Amino acid sequence: MERQTEYTWKVNDIQEETPQVKSIYLSAITNRPDFIAGQYLTVKLPNLGPVEGKAYSISSMPHEALIRITVKKMGTFSDALLSLKTGDILTTSKPYGFFYPDVDGVTPLVFLAGGIGITPILSILKDLSHKNDPRPLFLFYSNRTEQETVLQNELSVVAEQNPHLSVHCFITRETLVADGYIAGRMTPAHLQKFVPASTSADYFLCGSMDFTKSLWKTLRANGIQQHQIYTEGFF
Ligand SMILES: Cc1cc2nc3c(=O)[nH]c(=O)nc-3n(C[C@H](O)[C@H](O)[C@H](O)COP(=O)(O)OP(=O)(O)OC[C@H]3O[C@@H](n4cnc5c(N)ncnc54)[C@H](O)[C@@H]3O)c2cc1C
Repeated sequence: MERQTEYTWKVNDIQEETPQVKSIYLSAITNRPDFIAGQYLTVKLPNLGPVEGKAYSISSMPHEALIRITVKKMGTFSDALLSLKTGDILTTSKPYGFFYPDVDGVTPLVFLAGGIGITPILSILKDLSHKNDPRPLFLFYSNRTEQETVLQNELSVVAEQNPHLSVHCFITRETLVADGYIAGRMTPAHLQKFVPASTSADYFLCGSMDFTKSLWKTLRANGIQQHQIYTEGFF
């Protein structure tokens, strides 16, 4: 039997996360594809963007009935997505991607997210927590401003529920930051301070291409082997 590669969805709900970012909740019109936390869909809009669509990571958990993507306003395509209304119909690919940890791994996992790059990482962190995965989890999440720190409430909830997860939020364009935030860029010194045995962990980097490239180089220069680093660059 031919494997299904396209899916049709109805926009079930839309939530504004920040003035630039909305979460779009999708319900499958026919069948809903399974996915692994960390994967993405390519969304297709008629007469807009590449024929294969544009990629959006799934920010919800695999067992949830609705699939959620969280979109930041960047250019024409994201603008069109952010203009969708409840009840609109859209088409996507099946879920793709290899940005996820081993199911049976035991290595501590360190996640480095830049801005909207939190989307697949939130899905992974919530899914691992939901499954009571015992691995130590560390999130380093960088944003320009506190206001741009999307999905912060969900991160706080999951960090409260999962004693193995520690969350460190960085703000790069403000010097006076609220309690719980760190002003400035994340550096190797932060990793060494917060992650015991930081050289034996696996690393998951997600954000803009500049963010992922620069942190990949930093990790490599600090003794992390190539096979320990997973990247998802948004372009
Ligand atoms: C695997 C994958 C997963 C993705 N997941 C998400 C997601 O969960 N949420 C989301 O909002 N986007 C995600 N993206 C990015 C998304 O596919 C589009 O590229 C994005 O929405 C911009 O498309 P656009 O047509 O609106 O803007 P464009 O016209 O393509 O871009 C407008 C301007 O913004 C720049 N730009 C584009 N993306 C970024 C970025 N991330 N950081 C800095 N500058 C950028 C472009 O170079 C250009 O100058 C993902 C991309 C990939 C490859």
